[in-house]
Amino acid sequence: MGRNYLIAGNWKMNSGSGKTAPFFNELAKIIGDVPGQVEMLICPPFVSLNEAANAAKAIPGMHIGAQNLHFENDGAYTGEISAVMLKDAGCSHVIIGHSERREYFGEAEQVIGKKIAKALENGLTPVVCVGEVLDQRKSGDHFTVVETQTRGALAGFGDAEIAKIVIAYEPVWAIGTGETASPDQAQEMHAFIRKVLTEITGKEVASGIRILYGGSMKPDNAAELLAQTDVDGGLIGGASLKPDSYAAIVQAATKLI
Ligand code: PEP
Repeated sequence: MGRNYLIAGNWKMNSGSGKTAPFFNELAKIIGDVPGQVEMLICPPFVSLNEAANAAKAIPGMHIGAQNLHFENDGAYTGEISAVMLKDAGCSHVIIGHSERREYFGEAEQVIGKKIAKALENGLTPVVCVGEVLDQRKSGDHFTVVETQTRGALAGFGDAEIAKIVIAYEPVWAIGTGETASPDQAQEMHAFIRKVLTEITGKEVASGIRILYGGSMKPDNAAELLAQTDVDGGLIGGASLKPDSYAAIVQAATKLI
C-alpha cells in the first residue's frame, strides 16, 4: 500500500483574522501540484475558521479544522463552540486532547472521549493527541502513558468509529521547544501505537489509521520523520504559521509518495 499523508497545521492562539486570507493566498501561489495522497489541514483560531474555509477553496486537498470543541451540540456553555457550529463554519476536522488543553484546561480521558463522540456524530474527523512529558520519558514510562491515553480516548467506540479517527503522537517535551524526537524515537512510538490500535480494533482497521507526529516538525527534519514506516503525517505548530515553511513540509511528503 502506498503512503498517504496528512500534513496538519495547528495555529494555536496565533495569526488572527488579518493574517488568515493572506496565508492561504500566498500558499496557493507556492504550493504547486499536491497529489491526492497528501492531504492538507490548517486549524486556525475559531474566529478565523470561516475566512479560512473560504480562502482554502482555492487550494485542492486543503481542509480546515478547529483546535477544540464542546461535547454538546448547544446549550448554556458560555464561551464554548460545538461540533455543529464547526461544521457550519466549514470545518472537516477537529483537534482533540492537545497537550496544552490537557495541561492548562484540565482535559482528561473522559471529556476527550465525549468530544470524540460528538465530533464523529457530526461528521468531523477527530485528530486525537497523545504524548508523554519529559519526566515520563526519562523514567521510561512513555509507553505506558501513551497506551493509557490511547486506550482511554478510544474506550467505548466501535471499529467503524475508530477507523475515522486520526491519532497525533506529540512528545510534549518536543512541542514548541525546538527539540524533536529522532526519527527512530518517532517510529518506535508510532509502531507501538499501531500495536495498541491493533489490539483494540484489529489489524485491518489499525493499519489504515493515520498516526501523525507532532513536536517541532520543520522543513529541515520533515522528510526524515515522514519517511518512517508508521509516520503518516505531521501535526505542526510553529512551522505551520508561515506559508513557505508549511509548503516545504507538504512538499517533503509529496516527494515520499
Ligand atoms: C503542536 O502544536 O501540536 C506542535 C507540535 O507545535 P510545534 O510544531 O511548534 O512544536
